[in-house]
Amino acid sequence: MRTLAASLLAAALALHPARADDLPDLGDVSAATLSPAQERAIGWNAMRQIRASPSYLDDPEVDDYLATIGWRLVAVSPGARTQFTFFGIRDNSVNAFAMPGGYIGVHTGLLLTAQSESELASVLGHEVAHVTQKHLARMLAQQNKDSVWTMAALALAILAARSNGQAAMGAVLAAQAQALSNRLAFSRDNEREADRVGVSLLAKAGFDPHAMPVFLDRLQRASRLYETGAPTYMRSHPVTYERVADVQNRVFDLPYRQVPDSLEFHLVRAKLRAEQGDPRDAVTTFDEQVRERKFANETAAHYGLAVALIRAKDMKRAAVEIEAMQRAGIESGMQASLVGRFRTAQGDRAGALAWYASQIKTWPQHRGMVYAYAAALIDAGRAGEAVDVLDVAMLKDQEDGRLYELQAKAYSTLGKAALQHRSLAEASIAAGNLPLAIEHLQIALNAGGGDFYTLSTIEARLRELKALQPPR
Ligand SMILES: [Zn+2]
Repeated sequence: MRTLAASLLAAALALHPARADDLPDLGDVSAATLSPAQERAIGWNAMRQIRASPSYLDDPEVDDYLATIGWRLVAVSPGARTQFTFFGIRDNSVNAFAMPGGYIGVHTGLLLTAQSESELASVLGHEVAHVTQKHLARMLAQQNKDSVWTMAALALAILAARSNGQAAMGAVLAAQAQALSNRLAFSRDNEREADRVGVSLLAKAGFDPHAMPVFLDRLQRASRLYETGAPTYMRSHPVTYERVADVQNRVFDLPYRQVPDSLEFHLVRAKLRAEQGDPRDAVTTFDEQVRERKFANETAAHYGLAVALIRAKDMKRAAVEIEAMQRAGIESGMQASLVGRFRTAQGDRAGALAWYASQIKTWPQHRGMVYAYAAALIDAGRAGEAVDVLDVAMLKDQEDGRLYELQAKAYSTLGKAALQHRSLAEASIAAGNLPLAIEHLQIALNAGGGDFYTLSTIEARLRELKALQPPR
């Protein structure tokens, strides 16, 4: 009954000091490392703040793609039982970072700079290794209790400090964030181990391990060219001559592999480019790519053009691109999803709904489509069917607050107030807001209209959540 998000919230609250003098109880501080549950709770709490920050990309298609690559690496990690969550950060610097509990953030700048999927995977492999080798957990266990807690509050500050957000947080906080992030910097031994493990993950997962020294070398050259604007990756994981040489030695004996990039690698990059800056400039960029055949992947160039045209509200030309894409054959959930978005943007709601209904069986894992399909069903007055679609998706992901929000909307349309507020309570839990969740459950109980079974599950849930409240 208790969802994953609720148990993470409980663990995060257990870490959270109720009063300033009541520091988080991390159990045996002499332990060499945090337990997986403690680690995940710290990471979940940091993640909750990242989700609320403007840097959070919040694009399920990008996250799903990163997860596909990330899980290929996790799957070949010996003894990796940790959960992992991969997500995009809107930031042009070339960077990726791992947080406790396997939360791995990837900057859009890294996605756009990597010249191949193996290069991207080489950075992800390094970050996955920091997690599986417990570098973070060990480092946190060595800190004072109060700084461990600060670490959780810090992710957002570090994000703001790394991007353009000095203004967003104030210089003092930025300096504190920098000081703490320096204290939490990985040692050279950690970096060497992450490279060593990362290379072996790359090879085992079927990527080209030679992509790693190539990418590091490119970063290093870039930093020599641009003295002030060194790619951030070099600051958090310093790329030294020694490190590049070390990685070159490690891959020396490994065979070269021609690994074709997936279509999604190109589609994700095209989407990020098409959604950057002025829509008209984006159209010009992709028009040029298509006209001069200056692209790594033709399908993705046309996809990017279509995204840019829809953004620029040039529906006539967008229609031509979308039709051509359908004629050539839909090969990815991202393309299928774009057709639906195009029809919605055209104002053709019935057409969009019919399209999603025809595609959802082919791409059942595509979260962007699940959200859009459920929303379209609700709009069309078919909320009951939306509930069914959402129920299936929830079996796979209990931390996804957006599913609960859509479910609440569907129940609201159906006039089921008790169930609506029960869903809103779960959405609040996913957002880490326990008091609000309790409030919604109380409203749900008073709303009436629920049958006996529904009301008793709401009561049970309310008791559970109240027990999670920290003592006053
Ligand atoms: Zn590193």
